[in-house]
Amino acid sequence: MIDRRNALKLALGSAAGLAAPRVWAQSAKPRTRIVFLGTKGGPRVGVGPSNPANLVMVNDTPFVIDCGMGVSHQLVSAGVPLESIKYILISHHHSDHNLEYGNLVYNAWATGLSTPIHSFGPKGLEAMTRTYWELNKFDIETRIEDEGRPDLRKLLIAKDITEDGVVLQTPDVKVTAFRTPHPPITDNFAYKFETPDGVIVFSSDTAYNPKLAEFAKGADVLVHEALYLPWVDRLVTRVKNGATLKKHLLESHTAAEDVGRIADAAQVKVLVMSHLVPGELDVTDDDWRNEARKTFKGRIIVARDLMELKLPL
Ligand SMILES: [Zn+2]
Ligand SMILES: [Zn+2]
Repeated sequence: MIDRRNALKLALGSAAGLAAPRVWAQSAKPRTRIVFLGTKGGPRVGVGPSNPANLVMVNDTPFVIDCGMGVSHQLVSAGVPLESIKYILISHHHSDHNLEYGNLVYNAWATGLSTPIHSFGPKGLEAMTRTYWELNKFDIETRIEDEGRPDLRKLLIAKDITEDGVVLQTPDVKVTAFRTPHPPITDNFAYKFETPDGVIVFSSDTAYNPKLAEFAKGADVLVHEALYLPWVDRLVTRVKNGATLKKHLLESHTAAEDVGRIADAAQVKVLVMSHLVPGELDVTDDDWRNEARKTFKGRIIVARDLMELKLPL
């Protein structure tokens, strides 16, 4: 006797057999994940870790946070088709966070972008976008004419953020901006992602700011920049402007021990340290963790390039 399921199989023929594994694969895939694309703080390009950039993937929709040099390459390495990018968020206009902003969108166009990308960032992003079109006018217009591509300038919708609050809401995700000081920069935003699988907060570059703990209160994941103080102290003895440099670093960034304080006050489930200074691997994961462990007893992850964190935790 043929039961209902077998009858269906017979009726659908081999197509049903082919479709089944794909359905299984989709349901097994996590809906939300974070990929740490570039984990080294600062603008210097090296052979080691890539410059700052992160990815949040929710139901196959990519949100790119910061566009340090190398972000396009890192996205490709993470298996994300560039033309699938829908949202870009820039935290502040230091070059290690925006240098590849225009080029990422351009690279997405080169791989067949046909749907809009919405970008958000502090004041200056809209102007930067217009200027990028000027810079690349010749090539863009040549390819539209010569290759029949859509007009890239109409596919990127940039929006300056001027105040705290909700910047973006999709059926799945709400993104909220929160200003945090990064002297001398004040137009600098941390971002909170509320997803179906948990809350993720990115600190941006920031001075030690206890208010960030309120913003990140109860988050599942806090991705916070971190400075390794013993390295700063070694650096100070090596360079002429050591004292000034140390002062600058401490005024505009957060030492790992203080990062732990923020995570502890916010009671986050997981603390991820990224935008590491120094980013090179001579400071080990244990070195980083030991600093933050002094003040935070929860789970600590030291982000490395292309590492993935799946949600729910
Ligand atoms: Zn930075
Ligand atoms: Zn910065």
